[in-house]
Amino acid sequence: MNNRLDPKILKELKEYGAVGIEKCFNCGNCTATCPLATDDYPFPRNVIRRIQLGQREHLKRQLDPWLCYYCGDCSNTCPKGAEPGETMMSTRRWLTAQYDWTGLARKFYTSAVWEIGAILFVAFCVVLLFVFFAGPMETDHTALNTFAPVHAVHIGDWIMAGFLSFFLLTNIFRMYLFTIVQGERTPIPISIYITEAWHLIYHFITQKSFDKCDEQQKGFIKKTRWRNHWLLVSGYVIMLIMIVGFLPWFQTENIYPIYHPQRWLGYYATIVLLFGAIDSLWGRIKKTHQMHRFSHMSDWIFPILLILTTISGILVHGFRYLDMPLPTYYSYVIHLAVLVPMLVLEVPFGKWSHLAYRPFAIYFQHVKAKALEQERTSEAFASTGSD
Ligand code: SF4
Ligand code: SF4
Repeated sequence: MNNRLDPKILKELKEYGAVGIEKCFNCGNCTATCPLATDDYPFPRNVIRRIQLGQREHLKRQLDPWLCYYCGDCSNTCPKGAEPGETMMSTRRWLTAQYDWTGLARKFYTSAVWEIGAILFVAFCVVLLFVFFAGPMETDHTALNTFAPVHAVHIGDWIMAGFLSFFLLTNIFRMYLFTIVQGERTPIPISIYITEAWHLIYHFITQKSFDKCDEQQKGFIKKTRWRNHWLLVSGYVIMLIMIVGFLPWFQTENIYPIYHPQRWLGYYATIVLLFGAIDSLWGRIKKTHQMHRFSHMSDWIFPILLILTTISGILVHGFRYLDMPLPTYYSYVIHLAVLVPMLVLEVPFGKWSHLAYRPFAIYFQHVKAKALEQERTSEAFASTGSD
């Protein structure tokens, strides 16, 4: 491993939103308070220490920032106002940029011009596709599938899904290289990756670690953050599955009865996405919770895109049901011009990628722990045999 110290790392982290790291005097209060820190992962103090010492390569190999769910307890108890919770959040952004081999994540996180420019560029491309390839606009009745043939849109969905999966998976592979391959002394047997894989699925579905962050809250408030977060994640996943996997079932001229799954799944996803995005935006405006006190540009752009996507989707739905052809077609174009950049840019390079990195970090954490346990057992067995 390259152990050279790099004092520029602290300044670099500030570009990703960190504040007050230099005030930390390493008392360890934050780690003692953190509900998710363990002996093997004593964050946030160890992360701050590595930044202060300029240990760039060590920082890149850490899983710790992904194990933090930003409850804010550490920042609330820090005697120096060093904002350790915000450092963990900024380090997650920084790590996202390290995993991303294209360099786009770094550009998007550190430059508003790049981030907003890329969103506008992709949106413009979507509009151009409609200008050149859309079907005829029937105006005597609403015929969305004539204007935007569902099989063509579905092929576009698959291309988009292939694009974002390729970048996200290759970035996850780099995360694996940094945190497991380059950080481990001995190779880890394949069997451990298989036996521990359930952690990946379990934590992706339940977001269970978030739950621990709520434990100190009482009564009705208890588990609110976990519940809201889980609802939001379920909304993303349902919407993504419906768009990429079942578009012909979802975008149809048939108007199904209200109890049909096509309708209530769509309504469920829309409501929780809208609620989650407004809740996040409102929290950032009010700044009452610790995690909302400091907002990076990406923290605003993501919920705004989500709100625009859901509102334009509601408009398409409403106009279609009211049989208003032109408003339906125009709102459909606007809907895709917001949805596509949000998925193409945010899933592999932005905030959505955290949804994948977190469960992978927990999975890698268990893989490492299991490998260490096996190594210790075989060492103990060997030393018993030689006695
Ligand atoms: S961040 Fe604050 S609480 Fe944590 S070690 Fe530094 S000074 Fe102490
Ligand atoms: S924000 Fe919460 S989970 Fe994250 S390091 Fe601080 S105390 Fe731990």
